[in-house]
This record gives sequence, structure tokens and C-alpha cells, in this order.
Amino acid sequence: MIDLFINGKRVKSSSLETRNIIHPANGEIVETTQEATKTDVEQAINAAKNAFEKGPWPKTTNIHRSEILTKVAELLERDKQIYVKAESQDTAKRFIESEYDMDDVIKVFKYYAELIKTQSSRKVEVGRQEINSEIDFEPVGVIGLITPWNYPLLQASWKIAPALAAGCTFVIKPSELTPSTTSLLMDTLIEAGVPAGVANMVLGSGLVAGVPLSNHPDIDMVSFTGGLNTGKQIMVEASKTVKKIALELGGKNPNIVFADANQEAALDNALNAVFLHSGQVCSAGARLLVEESIHDTFVTELARRADLIRLGFPGDEATETGALISENHLIKIEKYVAQAISEGAILKAGGKRPTDPALQKGFFFRPTVLDNCHAKMQCVQDESFGPVLTVETFKTETQVIELANDTIYGLAGAVWTNDSNKAKRVAKSLRVGTVWINDYHPYVPQAEWGGFKQSGIGRELGPAGLAEYQEPKHVWQNLKPGVTHWFDGKEVK
Ligand code: NAD
Repeated sequence: MIDLFINGKRVKSSSLETRNIIHPANGEIVETTQEATKTDVEQAINAAKNAFEKGPWPKTTNIHRSEILTKVAELLERDKQIYVKAESQDTAKRFIESEYDMDDVIKVFKYYAELIKTQSSRKVEVGRQEINSEIDFEPVGVIGLITPWNYPLLQASWKIAPALAAGCTFVIKPSELTPSTTSLLMDTLIEAGVPAGVANMVLGSGLVAGVPLSNHPDIDMVSFTGGLNTGKQIMVEASKTVKKIALELGGKNPNIVFADANQEAALDNALNAVFLHSGQVCSAGARLLVEESIHDTFVTELARRADLIRLGFPGDEATETGALISENHLIKIEKYVAQAISEGAILKAGGKRPTDPALQKGFFFRPTVLDNCHAKMQCVQDESFGPVLTVETFKTETQVIELANDTIYGLAGAVWTNDSNKAKRVAKSLRVGTVWINDYHPYVPQAEWGGFKQSGIGRELGPAGLAEYQEPKHVWQNLKPGVTHWFDGKEVK
């Protein structure tokens, strides 16, 4: 049973309601969690507020917080396999993928430990000797963190590490489908020396446990990763008390392949771009834009290889990718594919659940390639968040830039070509937060991550990812105070 975590203690829900966590690969119950009520969330917010206003954390030195974050990274390293097992159990992700995710989580804590260690206030040169003018970087306050199910701990770490580095306190609500590793992290934080009340966790649905984190007056900022529609609702709620917001939303990311690209690398990476973690990746290359002259050979081989992708269980060495997160999501993907075909897309691979008897209890869907798509089709515009690739063709550089940008989203994209100048021109023209040239998916904690357009507001990772959780404060000190003579204090007769 996973309990809530409030003020450094495990607590039950005030309603004693619980929720079952289902293993997506076999449909079995793997865990049960307490389901927070609004009152529980308010208690957690209150604990975070007290810890911020009366506790030591916001006033500790950067060096101290850096040491604690380094300790968190060490403990995560020590307990890595416990986390890996829990993450794979909740998400059906292969163990090896959960291991990569854990390595990245550890790197994020180390990165912010280093960054905060060296941050100091900024001297402002005002051209007057008697003035000391400085910008201090203070914590924003009490943060509400709301995270999704696809990379549960990774998404949480992108928020928690910089929030703690800045001196903030927080209440996190992980996805109700994948709470296990976020819960484990609460114990790790306490063991590393984070004071009680600084880190709090509530569990449950978005509507009950999530909404108070976006509208409670004592929350100073809400940082959310998830779907576009949820992001819009959070903006509305947060606007009532003018909270700071950081939103990491969806994507419909173009993967552009020119005829002069290294075909083998482009092909291999096109598969990885879209089918990694069964397409449940915000930056998935779900829109393939391929130059017309190579379309037939490229797509035929892509579809052949997609049909060979081995679905399976997290611990099975032969598995190449796993199940979708839930039955609801599986049904959504089926409808999405049916709708695409009704719009004129041609099914080249997948399009159905696997027939393997061993997989029937899980939420599996075959990697799917839909050819003959164009920018105005719903399947090209909507994020499926599943293993579905739409294929469009283009003839010119100008045309492909227009097509690639013809979406409400702007999270990521890639361009494949051996012409470096062309690659840079296209990269510059794409209105997205991350562009890969002759590569797909890599990201590093040092580099900002986030979206243009409706893919979000603000950035995670990098120095900007820390800045989200800091308020710059200008302190102006006059060493030789004098009178201004602005108002002369004389009576006019
Ligand atoms: P979701 O929006 O359904 O849920 C995300 C979180 O919000 C969950 O914890 C959920 O309980 C909570 N929530 C739901 N309704 C809420 C409400 N009204 N108020 C407050 N909280 C609420 O998204 P999901 O299905 O968990 O995740 C998939 C989405 O996340 C995809 O659209 C994907 O693109 C996006 N995503 C984006 C990034 C990124 O970096 N941009 C990363 C991962 C996932």
C-alpha cells in the first residue's frame, strides 16, 4: 500500500479510499494507493507552506542545498534497482529503459547540485559609486507539481531537482496510474536530509487531487507536464490567483528525411523516433516527412521493420517495446487509427492488437505505419501518444518547412540530410523547442527542454529550468543617502 506523504510522514487518506495500480503488460494489480481527498491536499499544501515560511530550507545556503542534492543522487544510485523494478511495473517499460531513465534522473540531480553551488547574486552596474545594486535569486515559494505517466520519475525529477535547488517547498501529485517511484523518492529525499514538510506527495485523480494544486491560494506556482487540454484547465485555475505557471504539454513532432540523407541511419532512427516506449513520448517523431523521390523505398522498408518489432514484458530479453499504459489508452489508439484510415490514410504496418496469446491480457498495440497522409488530416494534427506513424511526402525545402510548422504544437523535430547548410536552415525555420540534426531523441540536463506554441510555457532543464523556480529580487542600497529636493516642503503663498 502506498500512503500519502505529508510533513515527512506517511498518512492515510481522510476518506480511506484506495486505488489499484495495474501492470499494463498483464492487467494484474501490482499495488494499491491511498486516494487523497481535497482536505488531504490542503493539509499537504499547508505543510509545504509552513516549511517555506517557518522552516530552514529556503534560508539554507546554496552550498548546503547542493550537498543535499548530491546526496539524493548517491542514494538513487544505491537504490537504482528498486526504482527500476517499480518504474517498469507501473509503466510496462523494459527494465533496460527504466535503467536509462534512472541514470538520467541521477544526472538531473547532479546537474542542479552543480548549478546551484556556483550561483551567486548578480551585481548591477548603475554608474554611481555610492550605490550597491544587486539581483538576488530567491525561491518562488510553495510549488504544486503535477506529472504524467510516461516517464514518471524523470518528469518529476526535472521539477523536483531545480525546485529544491532554488529553496522551494512543494506538493507533488504523480499520475494516478504510475505513483510508485515518486513515492520512493519521498523517502530518499528525507534520507538525504531534506527537512520534513519541504517535499509532500498526494495521490489520486487530477480532478480531486490535482485541481487544488492549481488553484489553492497558498500555491505560488504550478508546474505541470501532461496533455494540452489539462494544461489549458490548469492555466484557467492558476489565473484566479495569478500563479506562475510552467507547462510541458504535447507534441506532434516532424521527422524530416531528405533524399540526400544517410538512408540507413535515417530509417533506423525513424523507427526509434516514433516507436520508443510504444510512442508514449511527448517528443516522439510521429510525423514522418519524406522527400518524394525516396518515399517508396523508404516507407516500404520502414513498414517491413515495424512489423518485426517484438512486443513483450519488461523483463524479457527479447522485448523491444512494451504495452500501452491502460486499456482506455489502447481503445483511444484503436479509434485514432480507424479514424485515420477513414480519412484516407493507407495502413502499411500494424493497425491492430497483437495476436500472440501471451500478450492478450496486456494493453498491447502493434507499431503502426500510416502512409498517404497530409497536413490537414486529423491524424496528422492530433497527438496520438501511441505507436502510430503518419507519413507525408514533400518536394522542396520550402514546402517541408511549411508542412512541418503546420501544427498547433512546437515541442521537437528532426532533420536528416548530408547537406549541413540545408540542415541548419531547416533547423532555424522549425518553430520547436528542440531540433535534432541527423539524430533523434537525445537530451541532456544542461540543455533547456520545452515547447513553442501550444506545446507549453517555460522551460525545464538547463539554467532556465532553475530560473523557473526563482524570483529575481533587485536590492538597491544607497551608501550615501541624500535628499532628492523633488518636493521642496515649502508652503506656496
Ligand atoms: P494528463 O494531462 O491526462 O495527466 C497529467 C497529470 O495531470 C496527471 O497527474 C493527472 O492526474 C493530472 N490531471 C488531470 N486532470 C487534471 C486537472 N483538471 N487538474 C490538475 N491535474 C490534472 O496527461 P497524461 O495522459 O498523464 O500524459 C500524457 C501527456 O503528457 C501527453 O500529451 C504528452 O505529450 C504530455 N507530456 C509532455 C511532456 C513534455 O515534456 N512536454 C513530457 C511527457 C508527457
